[in-house]
Amino acid sequence: MVNEELFKKIIAHSKEYGFVFPSSEIYDGLSAVYDYGQNGVELKNNIRKYWWEAMVKLNENIVGIDAAIFMHPTVWKASGHVGAFSDPLIDNKDSKKRYRADVLIEEHREKIQAKIDKEVDKAHKKFGDSFDKQQFTATNPRALEYQSKIDELSTRFVKALETGDLTEIKKIIEDNEIVCPVSGTRNWTDVRQFNLMFDTKLGSVSEDSNTIYLRPETAQGIFVNFLNVQKTGRMKIPFGIAQTGKAFRNEIVARQFIFRMREFEQMEMQFFVAPGDENEWYEKWREKRMKWHKTLGLGVEKYRWHNHEKLAHYAKAAADIEFEFPIGFKELEGIHSRTDFDLSQHQEFSGKKLQYFDPERNESYVPYVIETSVGLDRMFLSVLSSAYKEEVLAKEDGTSEIRVVLSIHPAIAPVKVAVLPLVKKDGLPEKAREIMNRLKIDFNCQYEEKDSIGKRYRRQDAIGTPFCVTVDHQSLEDNTVTLRYRDSMKQERVDVEKLDEIIDKLVNMKYLLRQLD
Ligand code: ATP
Repeated sequence: MVNEELFKKIIAHSKEYGFVFPSSEIYDGLSAVYDYGQNGVELKNNIRKYWWEAMVKLNENIVGIDAAIFMHPTVWKASGHVGAFSDPLIDNKDSKKRYRADVLIEEHREKIQAKIDKEVDKAHKKFGDSFDKQQFTATNPRALEYQSKIDELSTRFVKALETGDLTEIKKIIEDNEIVCPVSGTRNWTDVRQFNLMFDTKLGSVSEDSNTIYLRPETAQGIFVNFLNVQKTGRMKIPFGIAQTGKAFRNEIVARQFIFRMREFEQMEMQFFVAPGDENEWYEKWREKRMKWHKTLGLGVEKYRWHNHEKLAHYAKAAADIEFEFPIGFKELEGIHSRTDFDLSQHQEFSGKKLQYFDPERNESYVPYVIETSVGLDRMFLSVLSSAYKEEVLAKEDGTSEIRVVLSIHPAIAPVKVAVLPLVKKDGLPEKAREIMNRLKIDFNCQYEEKDSIGKRYRRQDAIGTPFCVTVDHQSLEDNTVTLRYRDSMKQERVDVEKLDEIIDKLVNMKYLLRQLD
């Protein structure tokens, strides 16, 4: 379900609490470009670490690299990006708004699907426990009519995409009476292809031959280093290469906060397998990646698979893991079985052999590739949007207040512990500093002495800090402190000597990683 209001709240909260700022805000921002603030960068680093360690530390046969953003321009010819990395765009002449034609059609299809879901819900309520959904959708005239509309639309759409028929895409929009969400009119331009790569010039001479691109994906840095890594790491197939880093796309529609950015970060892993083994590995990686997501505890019901109907010409299979963002179910990660397309292309364009000698098969071949590709910023948004909660708390005087809390998994929370002297005098700040200095070696800590303790707890809740340690007068006498838990707000008196152990049990990422192994 789309929850625009929640989405707006998350955007506002991100800014207010130092997670995400619009880029160059004092100059009114730059469209679809964002900066991560003091808390955002910590959360982002932790998600990246969870991914990296799950890939590189837990799998003996996966190693990481960090390739440059700039690459030889021929890389992008070989990969197909110069010729075909484009989206079909369409403008509405009245609102002057630009859309991705394929997205307009997909959203229209989702709207029809929503109508079926509504009929199902209505019937479910009417018939109660005896309701049989399958039978209903197979026999109810209205549901069948909607379904046949979806089927017809899908068949035309897939065919038009496959053949690159832009006139037909426009016709689908017209025939389905799709209107511009802003102007409400059907006054559309023709559909055109728009290449998403940013280009720039290398060196000081502005000639075409010096044109280079900001990489639109990190994967190509892995492909061109395939042999370097295989040889120097003495890697045996099957093996993988992992990489995280910036990617750039001149997105046509970029109005969804950090869901669709023009500069973003990807976490990609290419897994090289022997020809013939790709289906088995594709299934394995689908399973492994879904487990990685679900282990973070954002809610198992928030994920679903979307198998691609339209495959790229080189792909054998492709699926997205979709997440239920406040803007609806959308792609979070892609898992693709890419055959030997990428390495073969680079072999052809570079004239260099990119083959592997398999001692077990006693033959050389160009390996097949299974790719897992997840956006770090979309991961960040998935974490934030499921963590954001507004709780109504009853106060002693009979009134109530709202507590905003980010229930982020403690292992990836930006700050792990806040150390708070109850008052700013009587030696409490000194004692608190002493505790802080001891904890900060292992945990990301924050020290705060301003405002009432209640206000300080709220500020920590709002950034998702799992523990608050409060130092009071008793602490000076018996070396104990109050430990407050973020989610339950439970408080307990603990010995300072025990703090490290209690905190570590919740925040150490190794416990999360253990669940994956
Ligand atoms: P979409 O269909 O949403 O445009 P895509 O299929 O083009 O995504 P891929 O090329 O498969 O995306 O990229 C892999 C991952 O990179 C995506 O699953 C997503 O998490 C992330 N990603 C892609 N484009 C963007 C973007 N503009 N902003 C943020 N993350 C992105």
